[in-house]
Amino acid sequence: MTEVTLSKKIELLPENIIDQIKAGEVIERPSTLLKELLENSLDAHSKNIDIEIINNGLDLIRVKDDGHGIQSDSLELAFCRHATSKIERFDDLYQLHSYGFRGEALASMASVAKITCLSKVSKRDAFKIFIEGGLTHPPIPTDSFSGASGTEIFVKDLFYNTPARMKFVQSQQTEKNHLKKILRSFLLAWPKVNFTIKFNEDKKKEFKSATALSRIEQVFGSSNQVIKKTEVYDDIQLEVFFTKTAPKSSLLKVHGIFVNNRLITNIRLHKVITNTLSSFWSETSGHYAIFIQVAPHHLDVNVHPNKTVVKFFDSNKVFGLLSGTLKRFLRERKE
Ligand code: ADP
Ligand code: MG
Repeated sequence: MTEVTLSKKIELLPENIIDQIKAGEVIERPSTLLKELLENSLDAHSKNIDIEIINNGLDLIRVKDDGHGIQSDSLELAFCRHATSKIERFDDLYQLHSYGFRGEALASMASVAKITCLSKVSKRDAFKIFIEGGLTHPPIPTDSFSGASGTEIFVKDLFYNTPARMKFVQSQQTEKNHLKKILRSFLLAWPKVNFTIKFNEDKKKEFKSATALSRIEQVFGSSNQVIKKTEVYDDIQLEVFFTKTAPKSSLLKVHGIFVNNRLITNIRLHKVITNTLSSFWSETSGHYAIFIQVAPHHLDVNVHPNKTVVKFFDSNKVFGLLSGTLKRFLRERKE
């Protein structure tokens, strides 16, 4: 009698499939792709960032910056998995001064979209690289990059080769809202940076370098007076900006929590602000933006591949500081 076995032969997956699987964690939808590109531009100390989005990011997301650029002999490597210039050893994660450290974003993009990247390092020639369907064409010199240094990345036809993932992209309106949320969060966190944004058919918008407060007013909407409260406790710095009113629709409401300029999701902090200010807000909450600065060694960012969850080493201190600051605001208001 022949033996029946359900056990299959174990085989290592090919690199391109590993990349596509990994990409699912990092590039879930157009907005997460935009987030990774903007993080890279800011990690490169850019002062001017130009963004273009066509068809809610499915046809094109283009980001051009004036950061330090990528050297021509590193251009190919930048698009390989686990290639990073931002950390060298594990402990560097706890001294982190950049958004990036995993070296996964560009590789993920290249596995699910068609990429053209132009980059120029100061006083050198600009180079261009083209990647499609896992095939990388070696960098060639180009004269179509304007500016002293920087990088311009075109990400075209997102998910063209992963139709199964494309199915999970939701309605155009949903993707648009996610993209807007990302754009708003970078505008809020980087008031000193000039941004120009061409979003679908909309007119090109310009956000000139500004003070934190005026950038926040611009993003929240001009009819709202913005209240600002700041507090320092030990080595935690807190800045909270909020308004009394905001549109009811959650799409138009701005709620942002930033830790060391990184937009995070934290239900507990969100609850602290909404519960404490419930007597100040009427039926619907106002806008808010919370900026928390802590020493990098008080923070663990290596919790989730998309880096939107962080762990505080002393979370009670952070929650206490936020709730104390808001309660003091309510007390002063009564007096
Ligand atoms: P990470 O940001 O985690 O290092 P990425 O895949 O996002 O990984 O980028 C890989 C590397 O490519 C970065 O470490 C950086 O050296 C380089 N790079 C990417 N984007 C830019 C940019 N806009 N300007 C300068 N260098 C960049
Ligand atoms: Mg990155």
